[in-house]
Amino acid sequence: MSRSLGCMQLCENRGVPYLVFPKLHALPYITHGFSTKKGGVSRGVFSSMNLNFNRGDSDENVLENYRLFCRAAGFDFHKLVASAQDHHTVVRRVTAKEAGIGIWRKRDMQSVDGLITNAPGVVLVTYYADCVPLYFVDTAKKAIGLSHAGWRGTAATMGAQTVRAMQEEFGSDPADILAAIGPSIGPCCYEVDAPVYEKITALPGISPAECLHPKGEGKYMLNLWEVNRRTLVHAGVPAENITVGKVCTCCHSDLLFSHRVMGSQRGGMAAMLALNT
Ligand SMILES: [Zn+2]
Repeated sequence: MSRSLGCMQLCENRGVPYLVFPKLHALPYITHGFSTKKGGVSRGVFSSMNLNFNRGDSDENVLENYRLFCRAAGFDFHKLVASAQDHHTVVRRVTAKEAGIGIWRKRDMQSVDGLITNAPGVVLVTYYADCVPLYFVDTAKKAIGLSHAGWRGTAATMGAQTVRAMQEEFGSDPADILAAIGPSIGPCCYEVDAPVYEKITALPGISPAECLHPKGEGKYMLNLWEVNRRTLVHAGVPAENITVGKVCTCCHSDLLFSHRVMGSQRGGMAAMLALNT
């Protein structure tokens, strides 16, 4: 069972809805997904599929949500490896040795906003509630990457840093990489001011007219999807290889956690990506 949402598909299995990109879903050697607010056991502001620890929800609830989400979307709970996001651009290569980190094992590193692997079975996990998830699949070398890019990460070219890490670690050719830009706050809802405008327009390959819409009085509507898309093209990923999901977390706050809508009293969603064993 599924229906379209933006350029993504909203699937549901065992009462747990999740979003996928049709172009990635068609690849037989990967499993991917993006969670929603629904289908979990958490209550109140975390209701119900909260996948963030340390926001006030109980660890038991979050772990149970991970189990439910993994069972529904086809991931191995025991092979999850989570990021440690802090709006920087460190990309970490992980293997089966890191299984459980940030989920059922303690974090062993500070500041990891991107994860890459070529180890089948390892499930990359990053967290969201308006920031941009970036998915990468090297179709030739069979390697994957998953990165978190808020406006700071976007301004620091997180997408390009992830491509570069895949080039260094796996010998990836950007021309072989499929990329997908997941649910985040959209150009419809993301108002920013002059300091952000200046950082974004200083990026290579960015056209202010395509990425920022002036609203007057020093305010702009920022299109993080387009900035990330252009950054990936600038890094060598062919434009035809990039899918923009076009799902706004703020517009769909009935289905998705949005920081802009709920503030800090909220749960968080997760992006997941794995090479199949
Ligand atoms: Zn919106």
